[in-house]
Amino acid sequence: MSAQQNTALALVESQRQIVEDYLSRSPTIKQPASVDREILRSKIKAQLKSQNAVLIAHYYTDPMIQELAEETGGTVSDSLEMARFGNTHDAQTLVVAGVKFMGETAKILTPNKRVLMPTLEATCSLDIGCPADTFAAFCDLHPDRTVVVYANTSAAVKARADWVVTSSIALEVVDFLDSRGEKILWAPDKYLGAYVQKQTGADMILWDGSCIVHEEFKAKGILDLKQVYPEAAVLVHPESPDSVVSLADVAGSTSQLISAATELPNQQLIVATDQGIFYKMQQAVPDKQLLVAPTGGSGATCRSCASCPWMGMNSLENLLSCIEQGSNEVFVDTDIAKRAIQSLDRMMNFKAEHLG
Ligand code: SF4
Repeated sequence: MSAQQNTALALVESQRQIVEDYLSRSPTIKQPASVDREILRSKIKAQLKSQNAVLIAHYYTDPMIQELAEETGGTVSDSLEMARFGNTHDAQTLVVAGVKFMGETAKILTPNKRVLMPTLEATCSLDIGCPADTFAAFCDLHPDRTVVVYANTSAAVKARADWVVTSSIALEVVDFLDSRGEKILWAPDKYLGAYVQKQTGADMILWDGSCIVHEEFKAKGILDLKQVYPEAAVLVHPESPDSVVSLADVAGSTSQLISAATELPNQQLIVATDQGIFYKMQQAVPDKQLLVAPTGGSGATCRSCASCPWMGMNSLENLLSCIEQGSNEVFVDTDIAKRAIQSLDRMMNFKAEHLG
């Protein structure tokens, strides 16, 4: 093995430790005590209206937040659509319920608007596991490669990239780059990267990051569940390991999985992604039975149990508080934003030009 390869391996290995350390220190995330939800809901609605604000929620947030976004003219969507929606909506304040990188992306794309989040503490294991300085050093070791990063990264990592992609557009972008003869450096999710590599045949090297939620789905658990529900179709997000993705009837982004739920004839669906998606998926297929794909193995404890701990930090209480007080405003360093917008714009333009 060359010295360069050794350095690259040491860099990615050190990131694994950073995530493990973070998770071992991370406090148990508790939702605030439940107070009258109806009062909270009406206060949030009134605040959104009076402040010309719109609520943009991710599929993995609490169903009560998703419901509010729908009822107030906001959106519930995946990170690509969240970015597009915030960019084109005429509200002066975007309230982003999700995790930190989603708020940053909204701010980079719409710097003239105020972007608020219920909490600025909600992050993502993929973001934590890909610090900008070590990632830049990794890129420097491979100057001949086009740098493609997943949206689940900090603004500084996006600023170092040539392209940003979400899971709903990753295959198309990498396929396009491969057709131009470009070799890819992919970060941070190694499972999604391996899936894209397998599907496109592109020349890719992968950063060693992972999502703690999707990494925990187990092939054996899904196979056991299939014994009980032999007619069920299996829907998998490709942030899961190959052993799980290979069992999928459909693998795809959150939006693609919801579409698949409606298109497949199966009455039962085993779903391997965060359980927050069940709110919109069940709306789309009210007569179908949705089954949570097993995590952690029988009797084992799991770190996420198909529920992202960071998405779970968004609550009605902190949502109201951020709008009422104008707190948790998102700011992005101007120089970083100027560079990050180039890789984000490539993604948005690619979607508009190639996928409509
Ligand atoms: S579900 Fe995984 S990828 Fe999504 S925010 Fe949580 S840790 Fe990150």
